[in-house]
Order: sequence, then C-alpha cells, then structure tokens
Amino acid sequence: MKLINFPSLVTQKLRVTFLIIVIIICTFVFINVFSESLRLNTAPPKTKANLKVSIKGEKTNSIKYSSYSSLLLSSFRGNLASGIAVLFKAVSVSDSILSAGFTTIIYNLGDSPDAFTNPIIDSSNPNFNNYVNDAISNDDLTYDSYETDARDENVTVAVTAFGSASEIRAKRLNFFQNALSALNSKDYSGVATEYFICSKCGNIYTLSNVPGVCDICGMSKIRFITIK
Ligand SMILES: [Zn+2]
Repeated sequence: MKLINFPSLVTQKLRVTFLIIVIIICTFVFINVFSESLRLNTAPPKTKANLKVSIKGEKTNSIKYSSYSSLLLSSFRGNLASGIAVLFKAVSVSDSILSAGFTTIIYNLGDSPDAFTNPIIDSSNPNFNNYVNDAISNDDLTYDSYETDARDENVTVAVTAFGSASEIRAKRLNFFQNALSALNSKDYSGVATEYFICSKCGNIYTLSNVPGVCDICGMSKIRFITIK
C-alpha cells in the first residue's frame, strides 16, 4: 500500500497555485497591451482633430509670413521698417517647426494630416500695418483648449506640444505688438533685425535674450537657426 507523500502534495499545490498566478498575470498584461493598441488606433478623436487643424493653420501661416517678408523686402528696400520683414521670415520658420512637431505626433497616433492646399497670397498691396495686424490676430489665439482636450484624452506628448506652442505664440505676439508700436511711432530703434529660432520647438529669441539652451525644450543654442 502506497503512503500519501505529504511534502510532495504540498509542492504540487504550490506549483498549481504558481501556475494560476502566472496565467492571471499574463492575461492581465495581454488585455492591457491589446486595449492600449486598440486605444491608439481609435482614440483620441479630439486631439487628432485638433492636431489636424493646428498643422494646417501653422503651415498656412508659415507660407503667408514667408510671402509677407519677401513682398515687404522687395517693395520697401531701405525703409526703416524693413526690419519687420525679418521678423516675418523668422516667424515663418517658427511656424514650420510647430507644424512639423504636430505632424510627428499625429503620425505617432496612427493618423495623418489632412490634404493641404497652399494659401493664395494677395501681393497687390504690400502693407506693414496690415501684415502685422494679421499676425497679431493669429498669435493672439492660444492652444489652451486643445491642451485641455489632450489632457482629457491622456495624450501627454500633445499636452506638452500645445502648451509649448501657446508659449511660443505669446512671445511672437509680443514681437508683433512691438513692431506695431514702432510703425505707429515711426521709431524703429526697438525692432530687432536678427532672430534665433530653436530648431526643435520653434521658440524665438533676439540677440539680447538668446540663452545657452532653449527655455522651452532645452535644445543647445548651437542648434538654433539664425534669421537676419
Ligand atoms: Zn526649443
């Protein structure tokens, strides 16, 4: 007659328990990974839509400002206000970097930007005031509501990007308001004629305030783009 081997029975129970725990953990991990990939393919709808609007807006502004800069430089060569044309060139570069940043995020979310049509620029009457006012009305808009949507949808990278873009816009708004004051007072001594753009985030600096590393993203100033 075979006696029951107690230590062996205990070991077997332990093995079974261990196996059950492993199965539960694997199932849990699998469900999480699967639902994460499913979430990336279907969500986040608001952030994706906001990114598409932002890409189109920044791309449009980049093309517009580049044209404004060229039109002002060719029409008003030697004019004291032509330093403002350099500002448009710098902000055009800044906008294209913002647009590229948003584009990277939307591809990482498994989506792509909408088809883009180049804006039509009216070149018949280049005018400093009109162009500066147009830029002020654009940069007066923040990305705050988009940032909130991204936070609600848990898209951290978009929260950061929209937050940075709002900061960059606020800074540019300041430059354009300064340009408008100069146009009104006809005193252009405070208008910068050289700008430094962070190649990573699009933040913009003048010679008097260019830091060693970007205030927003930490990129070294050796990677800044000089516009003059
Ligand atoms: Zn930066």
